[in-house]
Amino acid sequence: MTFDLLKKAVTEEPVLKLPDYTKPFQVQTDALDFAIGGVLLQDDHPVAYESRKLNDTERRYPIHNKEMTTIIHCLRVWRHYLLGSRFVIQTDNVATSYFQNHKKLSPKQARWQDFLAEFDYVMNYKPGKTNVIADALSRKAELATLTRVTCDFADRIKEGLNHDPLMKNLMEMAREGKTRKFWVEDGLLFTVGNRMYVPRWNSLRREILKECHDSKWIGHPGTHRTKAIIERSYYWPNMRSDIDAYVRTCLICQQDKVEQAKPAGLLEPLPISERPWESISMDFISALPTSEGCESIMVIVDRFSKYGMFIPAPRDCTAEEVGRLFFKHVVKYWGLPRSIISDRDPRFTGNCEDHVKCYRIRRSGNHNSTFTPVYISGSKTMGDPPSPLLSVNPETFIRHWSSIEFIEL
Ligand SMILES: [Zn+2]
Repeated sequence: MTFDLLKKAVTEEPVLKLPDYTKPFQVQTDALDFAIGGVLLQDDHPVAYESRKLNDTERRYPIHNKEMTTIIHCLRVWRHYLLGSRFVIQTDNVATSYFQNHKKLSPKQARWQDFLAEFDYVMNYKPGKTNVIADALSRKAELATLTRVTCDFADRIKEGLNHDPLMKNLMEMAREGKTRKFWVEDGLLFTVGNRMYVPRWNSLRREILKECHDSKWIGHPGTHRTKAIIERSYYWPNMRSDIDAYVRTCLICQQDKVEQAKPAGLLEPLPISERPWESISMDFISALPTSEGCESIMVIVDRFSKYGMFIPAPRDCTAEEVGRLFFKHVVKYWGLPRSIISDRDPRFTGNCEDHVKCYRIRRSGNHNSTFTPVYISGSKTMGDPPSPLLSVNPETFIRHWSSIEFIEL
């Protein structure tokens, strides 16, 4: 007996059956204000269901276009069932049933006709009353769009009214008509968007946050979705920052959070320098008390010998100034290093083009700034500058002439 019932249950609606490609298909569709639905049938038994919400643009369509949107959507989804055999489309809109015979088409309707051209179909009118399944499907999706958070908080909000002075003031203002942003309805305070004002009383706000974030029906959504859900029904001042703080500190969210940031690569050790002043590191110690017009110290350390140089620098040290100090205190005595390790401070990375040009330095794009000096060779005397360099920038050249003397000549 039970087995017979079971057999009956699995062979009847709403259980789907497998499609039989030798038999003709029927497509039933229906559209409502917010949602559309359709069912694919064979011998009056459903093969597939389909429903979805309409987007903002589609909601503004006239009803016959909504119906056509439904048909196009269903045919797109069931294309693999319907191509190659003749089928029937049943719609509950008379105007839509004459769509094939329309003489004057809008560009959108022309596109639809173009899409429908690959199908072999007949369109019939079927009143809504007989089109039960599709109607129910579109209503179900429509209900889903209208769902709001409503709990038994209303009574407690009323109770909390006397405990929140701000809410009391607002209610008085609303009653006296001094504000248009708030109004009173059934002893509750409402604001724009028909949202209920929640008083600051007895962890009421926290309970709402818990209900809209921790419950099983919602399942810990992120900040944006939690905000959207709560803001649909409730309002209180600074609610967004409260929601932010709540979601940020939710233990379950923290434990299950998916890391969005790209994982950092392996640490690459720096190459070991082989001789002094081949590779140096550079950084600033800043925000020091002013002394002789300087408020920071530029620290340069040779990575081979750990010899450190501490150069006083002004507070707002520009890239140009860094370059000047670098040449004055480092290059002059030790020559140009092959690599400079820095924290990619713009003062280092955007460094002293002029100075570099003067030394004919080739710069390669490594992870550190790497300079390869091309030394000036010549048999000129110390007071006789190499003439091609003068064409770069005479002023810069003269400024560094002393450095070149000491290093090379
Ligand atoms: Zn959470």
